[in-house]
Amino acid sequence: MSCCISLCDSEGVISPFSLVVVLDYWDGPVSGLVQCGACNRSFSFVPLFDMNEDTRWLRAGEPRVYALRALSEDAYGSIISLLECGSGKAEGPVWVPSPPPGWNEGKAEEVARLISEASRPVMAIASVDLSEAVLKAIPLTSTPNPSVDYYKELGL
Ligand SMILES: [Zn+2]
Repeated sequence: MSCCISLCDSEGVISPFSLVVVLDYWDGPVSGLVQCGACNRSFSFVPLFDMNEDTRWLRAGEPRVYALRALSEDAYGSIISLLECGSGKAEGPVWVPSPPPGWNEGKAEEVARLISEASRPVMAIASVDLSEAVLKAIPLTSTPNPSVDYYKELGL
């Protein structure tokens, strides 16, 4: 099994993520959480594409580029518990909490607060389906810059 730790070492690896929690969806995941099935580390993922200016992320079968931010075990556990409340148990490989947290303002705020405790982005990844494969990953050493083309940075 692959692990999130070695994602940047090779290309086209089988996804290490045993659970993908989708919090925002537009023809595919836009943002959410992932948990590594090998080491249990968890991350929040956010788009590195410009949803308004860029159309590449909307092309069917094309990869999307995301930034991963590391979550503490406690924060991740609390988010999952909150999301499971009223939505049933989180189940891999891809879980879309229903109803979405946005339906309950208090819950949405608490989830957002917990996600905001995540680290700065540690990795940029490209993937068509986060539960299946990661095409490419690079370490991020600084906060993502909106003027940088991360498709290019990832060699896509
Ligand atoms: Zn891992």
